[in-house]
Amino acid sequence: SAYLEAIEAANPALNAYVDITAEKAIDMAKQSDERLSAGNAGALEGVPLGIKDLFATKGVHTQAASHILDRFQPEYESTVTANLWRDGAVMLGKLNMDEFAMGSSNETSYYGPVVNPWRAENSNANLVPGGSSGGSASAVSAWLCSAATATDTGGSIRQPAALTGTVGIKPTYGRCSRWGVVAFASSLDQAGPIARTVEDAAIMLGSMSGFDAKDSTSVDLAVPDFAAAVERGVKGLTIGVPDEYRLDGMPAEIEALWRRGVEWLEAEGATVRSISLPHTKYALPAYYIVAPAEASSNLARYDGVKYGLRVSGKDITDMYELSRAEGFGREVKRRVMIGTYVLSAGYYDAYYVRAQKVRTLIKRDFETVFADGVDAILTPATPSAAFGIGDEAMKADPVKMYLNDIFTVTVNMAGLPGIAVPAGKDGAGLPLGLQLIGKPFDEETLFAAGRVIE
Ligand code: GLN
Repeated sequence: SAYLEAIEAANPALNAYVDITAEKAIDMAKQSDERLSAGNAGALEGVPLGIKDLFATKGVHTQAASHILDRFQPEYESTVTANLWRDGAVMLGKLNMDEFAMGSSNETSYYGPVVNPWRAENSNANLVPGGSSGGSASAVSAWLCSAATATDTGGSIRQPAALTGTVGIKPTYGRCSRWGVVAFASSLDQAGPIARTVEDAAIMLGSMSGFDAKDSTSVDLAVPDFAAAVERGVKGLTIGVPDEYRLDGMPAEIEALWRRGVEWLEAEGATVRSISLPHTKYALPAYYIVAPAEASSNLARYDGVKYGLRVSGKDITDMYELSRAEGFGREVKRRVMIGTYVLSAGYYDAYYVRAQKVRTLIKRDFETVFADGVDAILTPATPSAAFGIGDEAMKADPVKMYLNDIFTVTVNMAGLPGIAVPAGKDGAGLPLGLQLIGKPFDEETLFAAGRVIE
């Protein structure tokens, strides 16, 4: 009830929730009370969560913040959310996001932008919470839920976490089932939590993870006790700092934060050394070929027949065209056009196949440093703190917006786990985050090292 009251008070200004499932929440909480008094509480018993609108929730609107999925009510529950309810969690509602998870500022949502609860000192300007999981990050940061589900295709868990002073982890590809998560770019998409602390993130991920026969890319590995790894420390670990992430014109505050991160890890007994990931500079361009290519294919299913919005036309082709024209926003249309272009005959080899080759090289860069004794990699999470809603430069040039993902996309391209942890503030008092990248299925080291930094 306290959370529902907080949502009612703060959500009109933040726009973090797009659907508040108050009755369901009270009902689930009562069932939790019963299980608690019967002495069979789950790992998340009674914990109130917000759910990103990308997760299918049975009988509750699931629209991926898109007009084209108007009033879509899934007949089934995503595996990740089903796992959370199995462990006793309570659903407060569905959270705003960029349309189909495409964006880095949560301004592409059909429901309008999400507002970051943080403001720069001496300013009243509304800032973005990052994206695409901006509703999740804003809600956690403003205490409108204990933790939230989120998804990350190129940084959408870690970047908004960094911009709101929260913790976000994208686990290894295959750790969380994608079943019932609206698809953006299937070879990159992973679910994960945004939470207030590293420990909370570890507990959440423990519940969300696990093998699922319904997702052919789900990996059949036991889920470790992530929470037990949190206080493990970093003594004896080798942490790599990649030269290629030191960008020209990087704000001095981010450099300083990164240096402080190194010092904290060293003070706790880790060895920190420079490493090279030589193909880093190709990650962003390759991502913006692979992700739109997969998106154009995944989004072909929204044709006005099977889901949500239908705009009638003079014949069926006309109906398809009118429904897609009205149902998709600008950024989604841009991705579908780029994706269709790079997959078309004559361009496929030059763009798509080439990007896939680059992807392999990026993956090998990581394999080489891990084989050479590096346990985890420390980088900034984002190239800047939160920026203003409606930023003119980013509106005028979509590539400027894409640059927000510069430190995060490599991790998705390589399928690795990455965590963003709050590490300090900029000169205006806005949160900044650091990122740790781990070996495949070694989220435990990220929780241990993340705990040292937070
Ligand atoms: N910002 C990136 C994009 O727009 C990543 C989005 C995501 O991780 N879902 O594609």
